[in-house]
Amino acid sequence: MDFDFTVEQNRFREELREFLKAEVPVEKQEVFGHLTEEQYQFGRHINRKLAEQGWLAIGWPKEHGGGGKGPIEQGILNEDLGYWRVPKSGSIGLGIVGPAIMVFGTEDQKDRYLSPIAKGEVEYCQGFSEPNVGSDLGSLELQAERDGDEYILNGSKMFTSYAFHADYMYLLARTDPQAQKHRGISLFIADLKTPGIDLSPLPYINGEMAAQTTFDNVRLPLSCLIGEENRGWYHAMTTLDYERSGLWRYANVRRVFDDFSTFCQDSAPDGGQPLADHPLVRHQLARRRLGMETWKLLCWNVAWMQSSGAVPNAEASIAFLYGSEERLRFAEMAMEVLGPYATLKTGSPMAPILGNIEGIHREAMHLHGAGTTEIHRNIIAQRGLGMPR
Ligand SMILES: Cc1cc2nc3c(=O)[nH]c(=O)nc-3n(C[C@H](O)[C@H](O)[C@H](O)COP(=O)(O)OP(=O)(O)OC[C@H]3O[C@@H](n4cnc5c(N)ncnc54)[C@H](O)[C@@H]3O)c2cc1C
Repeated sequence: MDFDFTVEQNRFREELREFLKAEVPVEKQEVFGHLTEEQYQFGRHINRKLAEQGWLAIGWPKEHGGGGKGPIEQGILNEDLGYWRVPKSGSIGLGIVGPAIMVFGTEDQKDRYLSPIAKGEVEYCQGFSEPNVGSDLGSLELQAERDGDEYILNGSKMFTSYAFHADYMYLLARTDPQAQKHRGISLFIADLKTPGIDLSPLPYINGEMAAQTTFDNVRLPLSCLIGEENRGWYHAMTTLDYERSGLWRYANVRRVFDDFSTFCQDSAPDGGQPLADHPLVRHQLARRRLGMETWKLLCWNVAWMQSSGAVPNAEASIAFLYGSEERLRFAEMAMEVLGPYATLKTGSPMAPILGNIEGIHREAMHLHGAGTTEIHRNIIAQRGLGMPR
């Protein structure tokens, strides 16, 4: 593993930081667990500005509207966007849908879908989970029945994050009910304005409003099929391995940890000595610093593997799982150190670090999205340690 960035990569980070410092004032930054509509729209505005600089899809090839660099530059971008708390948008399109279309899409699909993603003009959501299907995704039930030059979709999707902001859903549906479960699944892009698609609000504990999405005789043209019919499972799994460094998530938490460290040195909520004077608090902070550094290296290891042409698999699960658990360890430690103050929400004048501790604690409870902790342990055991299924 090479720990050094090149001169150009360091220059890119410096320019990016100057840009973010100038463009992202504190009041527009996202507080954990409290994304407002105004902040979300601001995040999209920043994405479009990044695109004008050629930075939003910096890791994509130039012919697809990207910056022609690679996973390291994309990692630098994600790390800094997370650290500067730029409200997140466009991540499914940039990290998952775009790469899938580059590999499996037709020329027409590349022309139609890639440029709007690279310009920050569209939002995607991901329709994989269903009311009866989560970890065992291969058992999904949404039907897509071929009818002439269309597919007719019936069924529903669950936990559709970003659905209310999205233009399109990237989804898996069953196209051959007779085939073995993973072999009868296909990948589609559905315009969410298509008649028959309905979104019901589904609030998450982290403050986000997701959806349950129902499909009632939804007709999609054949041109919405991505890749080969009945090969969707394999296409989707391949492309899930693309954007897996998790640097945005790491940096977003790291920022709160850094702010919390400073807060402990500067503040004495009970009017006595600063919190950091207490040996137990110092040791807790030191432990979590160790955890944060480990998490960072695990994320960069994934980006580095991608930049060397390797496909991280167990390594991505190691970084993701470690991150989920480290985020929870940090949130619980901060709650314990601050006591009742930690539960104050953003908007309260006494809320420490703008209410980020209260928000991150709720966010940290979420150990399910992008695969549960148990599923990541299974992947590490099977693909990392070679154990049988
Ligand atoms: C905040 C959030 C955002 C999400 N966003 C999206 C999204 O945008 N799009 C989308 O499609 N989905 C999304 N999901 C859904 C997510 O992918 C599922 O929650 C996840 O796959 C788990 O499925 P489940 O909730 O049905 O739990 P289940 O699969 O029913 O699991 C229940 C419990 O059993 C355990 N378990 C299951 N199978 C095994 C096994 N083989 N070995 C050991 N333990 C096992 C699990 O770890 C878990 O603890 C989101 C979920 C959350 C919480």
